Amino acid sequence: MVNEVPVFVVGAGVAGLSTAIRAQEAGFNVTIFAETFPGDKKTIKYTSCWAAANHISVATTNALLHQLERETLSVFLEMLKKDPLIPVMIRPHKEHVQVLGPEGQKQLDHLSNCYSDFRLLEPNELPEGVTKGAMYSTICIDVPRYLPWVLERFLALGGRAFRGTLPSLSALLSEEDRPSLTPFPPTSTNVHPSLNPVAIINCTGIGARSIGDVLDADVYPTRGEVLIIRAPWIKHGLSYYYEDGHLTYAIPRQSGDVILGGSFQVDDWHPISRPEMVKLIKERGIAAYPELLPPDKREARNIADLDVVEECVGLRPTRKGGVRLEVTSLNAHSKSLPIVHNYGHGGAGYQSSWGSAKAAVDLLKSAVNE
Ligand SMILES: Cc1cc2nc3c(=O)[nH]c(=O)nc-3n(C[C@H](O)[C@H](O)[C@H](O)COP(=O)(O)OP(=O)(O)OC[C@H]3O[C@@H](n4cnc5c(N)ncnc54)[C@H](O)[C@@H]3O)c2cc1C
Repeated sequence: MVNEVPVFVVGAGVAGLSTAIRAQEAGFNVTIFAETFPGDKKTIKYTSCWAAANHISVATTNALLHQLERETLSVFLEMLKKDPLIPVMIRPHKEHVQVLGPEGQKQLDHLSNCYSDFRLLEPNELPEGVTKGAMYSTICIDVPRYLPWVLERFLALGGRAFRGTLPSLSALLSEEDRPSLTPFPPTSTNVHPSLNPVAIINCTGIGARSIGDVLDADVYPTRGEVLIIRAPWIKHGLSYYYEDGHLTYAIPRQSGDVILGGSFQVDDWHPISRPEMVKLIKERGIAAYPELLPPDKREARNIADLDVVEECVGLRPTRKGGVRLEVTSLNAHSKSLPIVHNYGHGGAGYQSSWGSAKAAVDLLKSAVNE
C-alpha cells in the first residue's frame, strides 16, 4: 500500500478522528470532511464535545461491542504507558447500588471481567442506603483536551481536512454537487481535494440518519443531560444506582472539572437543558456524592453550593442493532466505490473508539484489495 491512495473520512468526532489515524497508519492518504471540528462552538449536532467520558463497559450482552471496548481500553493503557501526560487519566471508580436486581448483578459480573483490579466493596465500605458496591480502576478522558489532541495527531501525520455540510456522501465525488468546502484549520494551505477517493469512511454519528446515501432510520438519539462541576479535589468516579432506576454518575477530568450526570432519554431531540432535570441531577448528585460540594459546604447539602460551570446536552448516536461496522457500495457520477460505515456507538463512542477504528480500517483494506 502506498501513501498516495486517497481515502475520505466524513466526520470529525471521536469516531472519525480515530478511524482517520488508523487509516493513515495503514498507509492511506486521508482527508476528513466535516461540518463540525474539535474546538468549534459546541453544537447539538456534534456529540463528541458533550461526552462525559470514561470507560465503563456497557456490553453485557453485545459480544462485538465488548471486543471493541476491550481493544480500546488496551490502546488507551498503552498510550498512557508511552506518555503519562496525555489528556487521559486512570482513576478509581466506585459502583454504589441501592437495591441489586438481576440486571445489576449481571452488570457487576460483567465489570468484574473487564477491569483487572475489580473488587466488591466490604459492607463497612458502603455508605448508608447502599446495599452493594464495587470498585475498580478505569480511564477518564478529558474531552475538551482530548479531541484537539487527536486532531493534532491526524494533522501531524499529514492528514488534510475540509469543513462543509454534505447533503450526501456522493456529493464529494462531483464538482457540481460539492457544497462549499473550506480548508481546516483555516490557516492551512490545503489544495482542493481530489474527486476520486478509493473509498469513503462514514463516521457521521447521529448525522447518519439524515445524510444522503445513508439515511439510516435505525439511528436515534439517547439524550444525555449532564453538568460540568468545578471540584478539583474529587479523586474517584462514581456510578450510583437509585432504586427507582435513576443513575447518578460522576467522572473526574484532568482539568479538575467533574461531569455530573445524567439522563438517558430515548428518542428525545430536545437540544437544551431542562430546569427540572438540572435540579434532579444536582439533588441526586449531592445525595450520592456529597464530596462534590466544597468541604465547608458539605454539611448543609445545598444544591446552590455546587460550582456549576456548564449545563450540557448531547445526543448519543444510538442504533437499533448496535454499531454499524459494514461495507456497502456507492454508485454515483459514473464511479463505484466502497463505503465503510463506522457509526451508531450510542453511549460508548469513546470507550469503543480505537477498537472500532481498527475494525473499520480492516474492512477498508479488504474492500480496497477486492
Ligand atoms: C452526556 C453524554 C455522556 C457520554 N459519556 C460517554 C462515556 O462516558 N463514554 C463513552 O465512550 N461515550 C460516551 N458518550 C457517547 C459518545 O459521546 C458518542 O458515542 C460519540 O461521541 C459519538 O461520536 P461520533 O464521532 O460517532 O459522532 P459525533 O461526535 O457526533 O461526530 C459526527 C461528525 O460527523 C459530522 N457530520 C455529520 N453529518 C454531516 C454532514 N451531513 N456533513 C458534514 N459533516 C457531517 C459532524 O460534523 C461531526 O464532525 C456520551 C455522550 C453523551 C451525550
